[in-house]
Amino acid sequence: MEQLVLRARAAFQTGRSRPLSFRLQQLRALQRMVQECQKEILGALAQDLHKSEFNAFSQEVVSILGELDHVLEKLPEWVAPEPAKKNLLTMMDEAYVHSEPLGVILIIGAWNYPFVLNIQPLIGAIAAGNAVIVKPSELSEKTATLLAKILPQYLDKELYQVINGGVKETTELLKQRFDHILYTGSTGVGKIVMEAAAKHLTPVTLELGGKSPCYIDKDCNLDIACRRVTWGKYMNCGQICIAPDYILCEPSLQSQIVERIKETVREFYGEEIKKSPDYERIINLHHFKRVTSLLEGQKIAFGGETDEATRYIAPTVLTDVNPNSKVMQEEIFGPVLPIVPVKNADEAIQFINQREKPLALYVFSNNNKLIKRMIEETSSGGVTGNDVIMHFTLSSLPFGGVGNSGMGAYHGKHSFDTFSHRRSCLIKKLKMEGANKLRYPPNSQSKVDWASFFLLKRFNKVRIGLFFLAFLGILVAITVKKYQAVLRRKALLIFLVIHRLHWSNKQ
Ligand code: NAD
Repeated sequence: MEQLVLRARAAFQTGRSRPLSFRLQQLRALQRMVQECQKEILGALAQDLHKSEFNAFSQEVVSILGELDHVLEKLPEWVAPEPAKKNLLTMMDEAYVHSEPLGVILIIGAWNYPFVLNIQPLIGAIAAGNAVIVKPSELSEKTATLLAKILPQYLDKELYQVINGGVKETTELLKQRFDHILYTGSTGVGKIVMEAAAKHLTPVTLELGGKSPCYIDKDCNLDIACRRVTWGKYMNCGQICIAPDYILCEPSLQSQIVERIKETVREFYGEEIKKSPDYERIINLHHFKRVTSLLEGQKIAFGGETDEATRYIAPTVLTDVNPNSKVMQEEIFGPVLPIVPVKNADEAIQFINQREKPLALYVFSNNNKLIKRMIEETSSGGVTGNDVIMHFTLSSLPFGGVGNSGMGAYHGKHSFDTFSHRRSCLIKKLKMEGANKLRYPPNSQSKVDWASFFLLKRFNKVRIGLFFLAFLGILVAITVKKYQAVLRRKALLIFLVIHRLHWSNKQ
């Protein structure tokens, strides 16, 4: 393990991952890998999660191709030095922010989107000029094995490596020194990762989970709201970090919501959901047992069928769910949707705020003011109003959690920033040493006053104007003083000449 990380560091230290041309070339190679190995990638996803080709392509491959297109187009702009505002003391200097690579990055992926969750951060880390170790989840074994096979066929083998293994190997890996760790997975393991990183003062991005609430207001088009919720809740068999975990609504809406979700499930997956190519399966027996145990003692409004042999759990809705029940204590991460009745939006806000900060918040309402109010008065990693999941798809928005749902963010330019050090650069000239007297000892009240003038006042046009007027005044005064004698002689001469002219004119 140590040798592999050292190999990546040695490769990074050669400097070859830094030039823009190299980064672009590696990203194009990654693009080719996704295109040329598409069949194998879709095959591995089908084996790991029972994903149909269409679903695997639209949920995992398209987003990666989109991210690559975006980064390839924008990277020259992102790597360019970013000019910084200057103050009166530095107005003659060069000030800019230079984004430099951090070094060796560790990416630890989760199993529920095993391709995207490894490759999307990898794109950002390559774009920022780093070396990278990717550790896919051992639970999505086929995808993990495939990544270890194909990545070295396309990318620089020393700079970018895949290490496979379970808890033992990851624990060993975490003993090594990295320059940044991006971890995707549960909050519990997130704490282990952060503790290990702290030993080396390594910064971390933690992409964790949580219970993402979905408030449905009574002033709302329920048909549309329920279609969108059904799509986001049962996609990937509910194994999505930003799936709506539970619904909050007024008691009178409950049965209407149940009916509409039921109709939509039939429309999406047909009468025999088990046979639908669009409906996935639970990743393994452990998670199957965990999710089915959440149904115990609950009022199942529809769904609830399970099949251990194929790890099938039907799309399920629970009604009148007690906030203290087990299903409301942990992230569900499966196709079970509890409805918790609340009196109104105020109570929904209070409910959300009494719990850990979730990864996402969803609000459905015709009333835009209510949506904005819920955003103002709660906290979550991200929000989508009148839809679910969709904020994830916009690469201009940083994707990440807050509090228990994680720290840091990535996607698009945000990935580039996450894997870069924004280095402050100020380049002065070895001239105008006189101006520096102000900061050299011995200090005095007047120096302090001048320093306050230069540093505390905001740099604006009026002040510059005043500053230049004062400067000009001083310059004139000095000039007058220095050339007083000469000026006096010159003035006398001019006076004599004028006088003489005047006198001869008279004659
Ligand atoms: P997992 O079991 O695949 O674990 C994730 C990674 O952590 C794996 O690579 C695994 O090898 C490693 N790991 C597991 N136990 C470890 C340990 N004790 N020490 C060191 N490493 C260890 O995934 P999971 O934790 O079941 O993932 C599900 C969770 O991930 C959910 O909470 C979900 O919300 C969250 N998630 C978050 C995002 C996001 O982008 N925020 C995306 C997907 C999943």
